[in-house]
Amino acid sequence: MTETIIKVDLKGSAYDNDKIHNRWHPDIPMVEKVKPGDDFIIECMDWTGGQIKNDDCADDVRDVDLTKVHFLSGPVAIEGAEPGDLLEVDILDIGTFDDSQWGFNGFFSKQNGGGFLTEHFPEAQKSIWDFKGMFTSSRHIPGVEFAGLIHPGLIGCLPSREMLDEWNKREKELFDTEPERVPELATLPYADTAHMGRMTGDARDAAAAEGARTVPPREHGGNCDIKDLSRGAKVYFPVYVKEAGLSVGDLHFSQGDGEITFCGAIEMAGWIHLRVNLIKGGMEKYAIKNPIFKPSPITPKYDDYLIFEGISVDEEGTNHYLDVHVAYRQACLNAINYLTKFGYSKAQAYAILGCAPVQGHISGVVDIPNACATVWLPTDIFDFDVQPNADGPKVELDGSIDLPLSKDK
Ligand code: ZN
Repeated sequence: MTETIIKVDLKGSAYDNDKIHNRWHPDIPMVEKVKPGDDFIIECMDWTGGQIKNDDCADDVRDVDLTKVHFLSGPVAIEGAEPGDLLEVDILDIGTFDDSQWGFNGFFSKQNGGGFLTEHFPEAQKSIWDFKGMFTSSRHIPGVEFAGLIHPGLIGCLPSREMLDEWNKREKELFDTEPERVPELATLPYADTAHMGRMTGDARDAAAAEGARTVPPREHGGNCDIKDLSRGAKVYFPVYVKEAGLSVGDLHFSQGDGEITFCGAIEMAGWIHLRVNLIKGGMEKYAIKNPIFKPSPITPKYDDYLIFEGISVDEEGTNHYLDVHVAYRQACLNAINYLTKFGYSKAQAYAILGCAPVQGHISGVVDIPNACATVWLPTDIFDFDVQPNADGPKVELDGSIDLPLSKDK
């Protein structure tokens, strides 16, 4: 039987579990050791460590302490791994806990985290998604059900000292270009809520003050939020420290490309079954700077899409030179406005784009001055016809159900 090397208690605090950490630092002690060829299971809390509840009020999303995220399980030592190697990780399977068959999606308040379309959705809102085997649906969003493309939002190896210093330097430089901005341009080290695993004493305090936050994706992978890095995928991670130090968390039942709602995908607690191997000296052999991966042989089969185009002209009509961020925003806003014609609120439509197996593509980046991005909405996730026709949209939703706001809204 495959051993579960890291266990979590969903009713307890992540801070009481010394096999969990929420910062990146080369000195975080390894909590387990495996050999190349081994397979093992790691349990994970949801990324917030249980801050979001299965209820109908978004106070918890509004008040979430984002300095605490992400709670990661690890780091796991891989015997014989050295800087410059590639760590090959097979994601053999991912699953939910029997007593936690649900996940959440939310929009952070603009004052606390924000999101991709925060100017349009400045209030905290959330939707709860129930799992039935491989399928999910939400009591807050009628008319839609889909199969999960289950994946870890966050996985990677510990950074080296030099890499950590580089991250902190460049992110501080970016932050300092607009230090008063809300939401902030980058999340800087913050000692107060750091969980440094098994570190103790002065060494722990020093590391907590400089440990990199887990929010951005970086050279080691980290919080890439790639929906296709799903169960069945094979990933190759750069190794920067002796024994690699593999950590994982932020499991998602499903997510649309871009994780545009930021809180985020369908976030869940669960377990992940991994197998590791090493390619000695693999970083140089294959010119690897960032991780590479092969997708799963098993993915939900949604192959009919309604595709929304967006160009790099913003809501005010201002032209942005080949800006795919602006173009993808426009594609998403176009899809949201379209779905409102079928009775969805804008918030429900936004949540669907964040949660469902929606594809995002960079379609053109050369036709000056406009970039073109597309959002691919799978039509078969809806239990009604969402395609345009001469009769116009047939509205089957009565509008009585919407995403919960916080109580005082
Ligand atoms: Zn996530």
